[in-house]
Parts: sequence; C-alpha cells; structure tokens
Amino acid sequence: MGSSNLRQTILVSASAGLLYFVLAAIALQLTRGADGIATVWPSSGVAVAALLLAGAGQRGWVLLSLAAASFLANFVWSGALAPAFGHTAANVVEALVAYWIMRDIQRRNDSFFHIAAIARFCLAAVLAALASATIASLLAGGGIGHMFVSWLTTVALGILLVVPLIMNFMHPATHGPSRSAGQLGRTALVLAAVALVAGVVFTQSTYPLLFLPLLSVLLATYFLGATGATCSILIIAAIGSVAIWQHSGSISLLNAGTEAEVLFFQFYLFTLLVSALPLAAMIAMRDRSFAEVERGKRWLEMSEGIAKVGHWRLELAEQRLFWSGEVFRIHGLEPGPQPALDMAVNFYHPEDRPLVEGTLAQSLETLQPIEFEARIVRQDGDIRYVYSCSEVELREDGKPGAIFGIFQDVTNRVLAAMELASARARAEARADEATQLAETDSLTEIANRRKVLSFLDTEIAKAVVLGGPLAIAVLDIDRFKQINDRFGHAVGDQVIRRVAQVCALATRGSDLVGRIGGEEFLIVLPTTSAEMAFAVAERVRSAVEAIDWQPLDLQRVTVSIGLASLGGGMDREELMIRADRALYQAKNDGRNMLRQTG
Ligand code: GH3
Ligand code: MG
Ligand code: MG
Repeated sequence: MGSSNLRQTILVSASAGLLYFVLAAIALQLTRGADGIATVWPSSGVAVAALLLAGAGQRGWVLLSLAAASFLANFVWSGALAPAFGHTAANVVEALVAYWIMRDIQRRNDSFFHIAAIARFCLAAVLAALASATIASLLAGGGIGHMFVSWLTTVALGILLVVPLIMNFMHPATHGPSRSAGQLGRTALVLAAVALVAGVVFTQSTYPLLFLPLLSVLLATYFLGATGATCSILIIAAIGSVAIWQHSGSISLLNAGTEAEVLFFQFYLFTLLVSALPLAAMIAMRDRSFAEVERGKRWLEMSEGIAKVGHWRLELAEQRLFWSGEVFRIHGLEPGPQPALDMAVNFYHPEDRPLVEGTLAQSLETLQPIEFEARIVRQDGDIRYVYSCSEVELREDGKPGAIFGIFQDVTNRVLAAMELASARARAEARADEATQLAETDSLTEIANRRKVLSFLDTEIAKAVVLGGPLAIAVLDIDRFKQINDRFGHAVGDQVIRRVAQVCALATRGSDLVGRIGGEEFLIVLPTTSAEMAFAVAERVRSAVEAIDWQPLDLQRVTVSIGLASLGGGMDREELMIRADRALYQAKNDGRNMLRQTG
C-alpha cells in the first residue's frame, strides 16, 4: 500500500468512525431522557454507506473503525462491557448484511437511484435490521419482545434514511451545476418549509395533521430529488422524536404511551420514505434521460460542425421546415427561428430553383431517395454549392408525411472539380497542339512524312480487313533544281508551299496529302479504285499546271505523278516502290504526266 493510499485509508476509516460515534452519541444522549427509546439509529446508515463507498483495500479498516466507534459509544453510555460488546456485534453484523446485499450497487456512480436498486436497498435494510435485532435481543437474553421490535425499526430507519443521503451527497444523481449557490439556496428554502410544516404539526396537539408532512416530503422530493426526500424525512424524524418525548404534537393525540407512539412514528416515517424514494428514483431517471438527450443533441451538433453536414426536415401537411444549426451556418446565418418554406426555397439560385423543386416533387411521387446539387445565394451575395440527399418519411397510413435530408456545403469540391476540368481541357488542347505540330510539315502546313505514312499504314490495315481498294500517288515537281538555281531557294520554298496547297485542295476530305521529301508528296486515296485514283491524280496534275505564277514571275510549274494500287499480300513498302517506279516512268516519258503500275 503506497503512503498516499495509506493516508486515504486512515482518513476514510477515521471519518466513518467519527461520524458513526457522533451520531450514536447524539442518539444515545437524546434517548437517555426519553425512556431509552430512539426513533432512528442513523449510525447504522453511516456504517452501510461507508462500506459501500470504501475501496476494496479500505473496507477492512473502515469496518474496524466502525466497530471501535460502536463499542466506544455503547460502553460510554451504558457503562457496562458485556452489553457494549453485544451491541457492537449486532451493529457490525447489520452493516455487513446490508453491504453484502447491496455490494455491487456502488460500482456505478448513479445507479443507486433506480427503482430496482431502491427495492433491493429496502430489502437490505430490513434484513440487516432483522439480523441486528435478533443478535442484540439474544445477547441481551430476551426473546422477540419490545427490544427486538424497537431495535429492528430503529436500525431499519437509520439505514433507510441515511444511506441514500450519503450516497446522493457523494455521487449526485443529477448532472450539471447541482451544487451551485442557487441550488443551495433553493435546498435551504425547501427544507426550511418542511421544518416549518413539521414544527406546526408536532407542536400543536389539537388537530391530527399528520398528512401535512407527507405532502411536504413529496414536494421536497419533487424539487430536490433524493436529497429532498431523505433530508426532509430526517428533519421530520428529529422534530417528531422530540415532540414524542415531550408528549406533544399530532401523535400525542393517540394517547397510546411513548413506546407505542415511537413505534407508530417509526412506521409513519417508513411510509414517508417508501412513498418518496420511488418518486426520487423517477426524478433521477428523468434527469438522467434529460441529460442523455442533451448530450446526444450536443454530440450531433458537434458531428455536424466537424463534418460540415446539416440536416433538414419538411413536414408535408403543415409545410413546416426544420433546419439544424449547421444548415443555418451553411446559409451564412446564425441558428435561429426556423425559416418559412418559401424563404428557404428563395435561397436557391434562380436558375437552380426548378431543379430543386422538380427533384423534391419527383421524390414525393416515387417515394424513392433523391439527391441534388444546387447553388444557394447567401444574403451577402456569396454563392455556395450545396449537396442534399433526402428520403421520404411515410406516415402510418403509408402516405408521405415528411421529407428528411442531409445538407452539405460542397463548394470547395465543386470549385476543385471545375478547376480540374478546365486544367484538363487546357492540357488536352496543348496536347492536341503538340500532336498537330508533330504531324504537320512546317513549310507547307500539310501532313508531314510521319503523319502521311502512318495514315497510309492505317488505311492499308483497314483495306485488308474490309477488302476494299486503296491507291496512292507519289508526286514530284519537275525540274525543281532549275527553279532553285534560277530564282533562289526562297522562291523554291514558295513553289513547294503553293503546290502543296493546290494538291490538298484538289483531293477529297477522306484523302490525305503529305510532304514526304524536298519537293515530293504522297497522296493516300483510301477506298479508291485505280481508275478513280487516276482521275484524282489527273485533276491534281492539271490544277498544278494551271497555277498562276505571275506574282513570283515564274513560268509554268508541272508535276509528274506515279500511281499504284494495293493488291493482295502487298505491304506499304511494296506499294511505295511501285508508285516510285511509276513516277520514274512518268519522268522518263517526259514529265507533267501520270503513270500507273498495277
Ligand atoms: P526532276 O524533274 O527529275 O525531278 O528534276 P529535279 O530538278 O526536280 O530533280 P530532283 O527532284 O532530284 O531535285 C530535288 C531538288 O529539290 C534538290 C534540292 O536542291 C531541292 N530541294 C529539296 N528540298 C528543298 C526545299 O525544302 N526547298 C527548296 N527550295 N529546295 C529543295
Ligand atoms: Mg525530287
Ligand atoms: Mg523533282
């Protein structure tokens, strides 16, 4: 055991023993002048509560201290050893019996004030008192006589009144600021009223007003819970006891003698307790439920705040809308009075309103969950994107009663998605540009060699699969070296450009003209027969021949064209060789003409 543990054990044991002794002394001193009959033995309650509250390692010491206190009090007031031992034994046994029956109650802080726990507690008090009374009577040499009954009721009341008081003091059943100044003031006021009522009832001997304290106990319980119940009954017990010893008060109207009057008063107190404790338990339960609901609400608010997701509910019959705090905040508002439906709808961007109304109408028609994303315009003009997903709540008759949905601010996500989309569009445009650049001949701005050859490969593959015709034409400017030599390279470039443009214009959209060398071009003619290709090539040839070169001060520029058509088992290489061969033929045959190989 550590030194701090030891100190705590000593403190707990000593205070339990001291409280036991003081209360026993008061009870013994008071009964001394009153025929030796105590109404209540509060020390029994102290002992049981101390055992319930003590830690496992402290319980033995607490019990020892309680036994010592009991012995001391009994010995000092009786002056005899044997009865003091007997009473101590009875007190120890009663405390152990009650503790044993209730031993697992202390494990949960506020579990004492449950109906079931209270029933068990009453049983524990009665059984403990029975055991105690039996031992005390036997040791005193008496049977089931007056001492037995008196001991039984006194101890039972002591346990019943004091244990709840101490348990409630150590572990307040209600949560929140239960010991605030206002609470203390209220407690004092209510208990003073109880004392006043008891004072009136027990100081006058004219009217039997015993129903009044019951009323005051119930009111005290209603206002103060378990503390009110036990404190008010203790006050009544104290005032009533004094009155009985003085032979005054409502009970003295019985005229039954002190002994019977004490017994009557004890059962009267017992009745008060049995009426008030269940009420106290119910109030404690109500406070617990209230605290749980409050906590649930707080946690929901916190979750909504962290997740930035609110919830809303539209009651269809009344067209009444509920917004959670987070929905208000998403709208840029502080949580306040619930908005009217049209005000809520007006928050939506005018362009999005039909979508929202349409989606909700559709959900009422199909009774299926729906979702939408729309813009709201906050009062400061800020536009937010919101996402809502909702379900229809059906009434008992199967008709829609309400729509319940969640509400989320998705502005950041939407803006990020927009940013991403435009970045992608920009990247795609740049990629297109790069591809265009990579496939375009910079001088003529028509397809370059790589592009036109890859196009030819694709078209050959297609023709092979589909079995259609395909033709190509290789075109070379006649005597180009002379143009370069005579007019310079720059003029030569201009000629190449012009010829390229004319070729491109003279072919169809499905054909492709590309520059494959200095002043050589390839025209790919997909799905084109040899005759058709010849006609196209002739059109090209004559178009080039017809170019007006006036601006460049040139005479005529002509081209020679070699044609080839795709035959079975032919690849691109073979096709090109055939076209080149035809071109060579055209050059040889005098230029400015077409030649074709099969
Ligand atoms: P042929 O009728 O037999 O085709 O005679 P040719 O003079 O045209 O002969 P060839 O086709 O062999 O000559 C091509 C010449 O084109 C060679 C080169 O000086 C010139 N050339 C090649 N590329 C360019 C170019 O980009 N710009 C210019 N200005 N000239 C080029
Ligand atoms: Mg050439
Ligand atoms: Mg040439």
